[in-house]
Amino acid sequence: MAEREWKCPKCGAVPPLIHERDDKTKILMQGSGMPTMYAKKLVCGKCGHEWKKE
Ligand SMILES: [Zn+2]
Repeated sequence: MAEREWKCPKCGAVPPLIHERDDKTKILMQGSGMPTMYAKKLVCGKCGHEWKKE
């Protein structure tokens, strides 16, 4: 795991303040009979900044 990605680029907060969420604007996979898979994004619990997990 690349720990760098989990650091907030705005305020520098690190886990456990960083949370992984589904980015519902970005569908990775959608098929019949399968749950929709979304891309992941990271959300800072300190300043509220959201950024993409590459
Ligand atoms: Zn932050």
